[in-house]
Amino acid sequence: METRILGNSRSAMELAKAYIEAGEAVAFHTETVYGLGANAFSDEAVLKIYALKGRPADNPLIVHVHRDYDISRLTDGEPAYAAALRRAFLPGPLTMVYPSSGKVSRYVSCGLQTLAVRVPSSPVAQAFLKAVNLPVAAPSANLSKHVSPVTAQHVLDDFGGKIPLILDGGACTGGIESTVLDCTGEVPAILREGLVTREQIARIAGDCRVYVPAEGEKPKSPGMAYKHYSPRCKTACCRSAEEALRLYENEETGGGKPMILCESALLPRFSGREVLDLGETDAEMARRLYTLLRQGEKRATLLVGVMPSGRGGAMAGVLNRFTRAFGGDHET
Ligand code: AMP
Ligand code: MG
Repeated sequence: METRILGNSRSAMELAKAYIEAGEAVAFHTETVYGLGANAFSDEAVLKIYALKGRPADNPLIVHVHRDYDISRLTDGEPAYAAALRRAFLPGPLTMVYPSSGKVSRYVSCGLQTLAVRVPSSPVAQAFLKAVNLPVAAPSANLSKHVSPVTAQHVLDDFGGKIPLILDGGACTGGIESTVLDCTGEVPAILREGLVTREQIARIAGDCRVYVPAEGEKPKSPGMAYKHYSPRCKTACCRSAEEALRLYENEETGGGKPMILCESALLPRFSGREVLDLGETDAEMARRLYTLLRQGEKRATLLVGVMPSGRGGAMAGVLNRFTRAFGGDHET
């Protein structure tokens, strides 16, 4: 199958609509990462997403709709705080988990009684969702466990020849996946950290918890249980430049090709070494992380990540992805 890459034009959206109606999967730009979408009402189309990605059957999908879509068609009631959050943050990088009305394919939520809904702000995503005028089930457009895609080329690298169309909107400005927020309880609870922060949510909703599964408990957001965002080379997670240098020298002595990924402030400590610059601010680090992981896996045998020092803002989301990519622990 030829994979076409098209921008935001009427003919591209008409083609996308035809593919979605025919039960195909179409990749599309969003402000977070690229998504791989299919008709959420169709069992076959939704199952195709799992098959293409190699995604575990118990990791549910987020349903994407355009800004004028009536979400109450898919959900079963919402608390007052959720309506306020919708008005404050949508369209944007916030996924809201509601009680489901059971209208979409049961494979979207993998047997959960809830449905995750998102209204992306990217003009390409809006044009696409408006054209199809259906809820589109879409996880990130990467092979399961691999690094999420933030350019059309990244999508092509994972799905070239396997999907008919990528709707190209350029590099994603957000760079990490949406914040997933459980809106089924009295107080909203973050299931996955992202670009919309706990502080921003609490300001509107009055309060916001960060859900942490108890020891041995099945996580409420099943995706968080899996190894994720992993480059296809060896990785190591460090807390200091000294540790990173030690691992770097070891790898080089053994005939390997190490690279270090770190925040800009640490660059002087690694002069003469192969380094990938994560940037300075939380937004910059979010935007660059996945591109650098994909660059690193192509060039290095060992990628050494030095944990960024910043906190606050979107850093909780950045550190979450960083540690899951490199394999480390962190407190948020
Ligand atoms: P992805 O789109 O690949 O970033 O993955 C979607 C994320 O949303 C995963 O972490 C899922 O576990 C989570 N998710 C999707 N639907 C639900 C739901 N109904 N309840 C809780 N988490 C969900
Ligand atoms: Mg994903």
